[in-house]
Amino acid sequence: MLDLAIVGATVVTPSGVAPADVGVVAEKIASIAPPGALEPAQRTIDARGMLLIPGAVDPHTHLDAEMFRMHTIDDFESGTAAAAAGGVTTIVDYAFQPQGGSLADAIDKWNAKARGRAIIDYGFHVAILDPSPETIAEIPRIVERGVTSFKIFMMQGFEARARDFLRAFKAAGESGALLAIHAEDEHLIGFCTERLLAAGNDSVEHFAASRPPLSEAAAVRRALAMTELSAAPAYFVHLSSREAVDEVRRARARGRVVLAETRPIYLYLTEERFLEPNGAKYVGYPPLRSAEHRDALWSALADGTIDVVATDHCSWTLERKVSAGRFTRTPPGMSNLETLVPMLYSEGVAKGRISISRWVDLTATNAAKIFGMYPRKGAIVEGADADLVVFDPNRKVTINSAEMHSRADYDPFEGFEVTGWPAMTISRGVPIVTNRKVEAPAGRGDFVARARFSPTWQSQ
Ligand SMILES: [Zn+2]
Repeated sequence: MLDLAIVGATVVTPSGVAPADVGVVAEKIASIAPPGALEPAQRTIDARGMLLIPGAVDPHTHLDAEMFRMHTIDDFESGTAAAAAGGVTTIVDYAFQPQGGSLADAIDKWNAKARGRAIIDYGFHVAILDPSPETIAEIPRIVERGVTSFKIFMMQGFEARARDFLRAFKAAGESGALLAIHAEDEHLIGFCTERLLAAGNDSVEHFAASRPPLSEAAAVRRALAMTELSAAPAYFVHLSSREAVDEVRRARARGRVVLAETRPIYLYLTEERFLEPNGAKYVGYPPLRSAEHRDALWSALADGTIDVVATDHCSWTLERKVSAGRFTRTPPGMSNLETLVPMLYSEGVAKGRISISRWVDLTATNAAKIFGMYPRKGAIVEGADADLVVFDPNRKVTINSAEMHSRADYDPFEGFEVTGWPAMTISRGVPIVTNRKVEAPAGRGDFVARARFSPTWQSQ
């Protein structure tokens, strides 16, 4: 007897998109059968007319984080509720090395934030902020604990310690870890920002000019050289520009293992948004770009240059975003977890830019493989965790922040008309969201220890 059966859906598996019935036993996918061929189940969900997809894996979130001496508005409870409502069943959040503290301190601190609160499963990356000899010596032990990726910010002080960072890169590569790199050149940005501020151009309409596409491409090139020298694999987070994506293409053509992520805001919004009265609400690092860059990112999604679409969910109230005054003081980031999956379906699949399989690769399978969680997460295969989304491809939703589960009081996509929305989210065999209503106790999510990075992740 199965615990749960989902019948009648069109199922997206690694081998294709086809009608099938899926059975669950003890939190796992037990069988994927031709329609009508499943054994009886205690509970059956009729999913006719629906797509059944793996729960999304978002490897880039900032929940309960501190930036600019402020706390993000979503903690692990509200953030994972928003995630679940949007069809995301696993996140990997960035734990920050505390000032004067160790990498282990970062994990302990983030464990305390997530435990008892998260309603879906979670892992951590650790952001290396002080690449001291002690920190570098710690790297192999952190990898042993299932935290197999490290964030590198190429901003504020990176260049002054580039040689120490090279040593950290080397240690990470030797430990089988992946480097998640925020690529923006601090000196190019500093130069542009200084000039703008000196001319009195400190309002948000000048924000994009303070961090031009060239500053991203220059940092990508520098990181490619540094990771080549130190033999460490590089994953570029939230790429935003044509030039940066071109650098990734060229590096791959030379045989480098290089991974690339982008973020929803660069696919759906352009820099004209900064001219709106509350334009500061769209501030993130890097900034929104022109339509030319947006279109280049869509091409890179379709041709395989970009591997992952991740949210960089980092939410604030509108008041926090717009009250800062000059653009250098606006806290970066915004809420995105609930819209990640449906908006990429609506703007990507429904508009014919990417296939259904590519949508699932970009939001679930690739991240699970790259970050060492496959096949437990990220695909509908027998033996995997039963993290599933019954997705209604015809449901129309107008984005309205009042209906969203983030504690942010605005949504960057307010008013967007979206075709396709999750009807049900299932986490390890348990329905936790039905028709946009979250019904899951805080703390039911578990820590996911991740495997080391595999350079052959695509063929797994
Ligand atoms: Zn981030």
